[in-house]
Amino acid sequence: MFRNPNWNHSAKQLEQAVETDLVVKAMCLVCGEVSFIEMLEADWRRWRAGENIQDVAPYPTVGERELLISDVCSECFDDVIDE
Ligand SMILES: [Zn+2]
Repeated sequence: MFRNPNWNHSAKQLEQAVETDLVVKAMCLVCGEVSFIEMLEADWRRWRAGENIQDVAPYPTVGERELLISDVCSECFDDVIDE
C-alpha cells in the first residue's frame, strides 16, 4: 500500500467515475516496472481479506488487476502466454 499525494496522471484511464482514495503500488516481478493503481481503500481491504478482485474492484483495467493478483504486468503476462 502506497499513498502518493502527487498522483494525477491515471484518472483519465478510469472509464467509470470512481472516487478512489487509495493508490496501490505494485511492481512487476518480471520486468520490475512499478505501477500505481487507484482503488477505494474499502475495496482494497475487501480484496486483501480474500474476496475476488473482479467483484470488489471492477474499475481497474484488466492489466492492472492482473498485476495486483499475480505481480506480473500485462506486457510480461502476454509474453508468458505467447510461449
Ligand atoms: Zn512486467
